[in-house]
Amino acid sequence: MPASVGGLMVFDAAAVRAALSPEVARGIVREAMIALSDGRVRQELRSFIGLGEGRTFAIMPAALGERAAFGAKLVSVFADGQGHKSHEGVVILFDGESGAPVCMVDAGEVTAIRTPAASAAATDGLARNDADSLAVLGVGRQALGHIVAIAQVRELTSVAVWGRDPARTAAFAQEAALETGLNVRAAEGAEAAVAGAAIVCTVTAAADPILSGAWISPGTHVNLVGASGPAQAEADADLVARARFIVDHRPHVLAHGGEFLRAKAAGVVGDGHIAAEIGEVFAGIAPGRTSAEQITVYKSLGHAVQDLAVAAWLYAQTMKDTDVQ
Ligand code: NDP
Repeated sequence: MPASVGGLMVFDAAAVRAALSPEVARGIVREAMIALSDGRVRQELRSFIGLGEGRTFAIMPAALGERAAFGAKLVSVFADGQGHKSHEGVVILFDGESGAPVCMVDAGEVTAIRTPAASAAATDGLARNDADSLAVLGVGRQALGHIVAIAQVRELTSVAVWGRDPARTAAFAQEAALETGLNVRAAEGAEAAVAGAAIVCTVTAAADPILSGAWISPGTHVNLVGASGPAQAEADADLVARARFIVDHRPHVLAHGGEFLRAKAAGVVGDGHIAAEIGEVFAGIAPGRTSAEQITVYKSLGHAVQDLAVAAWLYAQTMKDTDVQ
């Protein structure tokens, strides 16, 4: 249950988990991305303050419409030097009429749920209807969330996972199989994991590509999720160039999309290679996949509108429950 502190509703991680299912999150995020693309909600480019090697403070502001709720995600992203990153902070929601802060939500938990939800919504919009095999590169917190969320939009018959450490990967495969009831196997390498997969998710903290376009079969849908700043890229320029490249938010990917920026710097794509924003695809304004053989990529950076839309939903649910009592 959220706590009320001086009129501010506070959702800690447990309260977020208890209230927000991956399925509900998918619907919220999908609507938020449509509203972002059609201009109903606004967000500024996020800004980063470096706090020394591997430590960043990110400020991500957005407004959910005129006279509607607004606010920001304030989050520290601290790398431990071993390839792990923590996301800690708060999403703070202001009331659009009074201008007062009304709700504060654990940012780590919202991020852990809304990110796979966004990938699942994108997969639903871009993967082939018969896509039944998933490969996940990375075995951290986002990895399990992605398996759970993707399984809600496609009937998966097999899941392959790859991580740098074979023992950790095997343990993760076992945990994911137990958690989801799916057939999850640990692959020996990233190439082996993605071979023949119809859906691929990259959710690593790798700074340089761990996925090559040459390994991806025609017709595959790929979610590039792990690189959330310009200095990181999980996939090579070949994948970017070969794919119908759909992004979560064009201005952000032009500024911070590591894979796209490296492909552009290599001269293999220009800005026009960004075919659409996912919100345009969801709204039916831009086509998603245009052939069964096409490779589609969804580049996810993660956005304040997603966090704020989730916070606004959590707050509205609580207010509704309070009204009823
Ligand atoms: P975790 O720290 O829980 O997991 C990180 C994973 O990345 C681990 O499996 C780790 O491997 C792997 N990894 C690190 N370095 C490398 C490397 N060089 N090569 C291969 N694998 C590597 O983080 P999360 O799961 O929470 O997040 C994963 C990534 O997603 C992060 O980069 C994070 O910033 C990003 N992210 C993106 C969001 C978005 O909206 N797009 C939102 C949230 C997170 P091992 O287990 O072997 O150590």
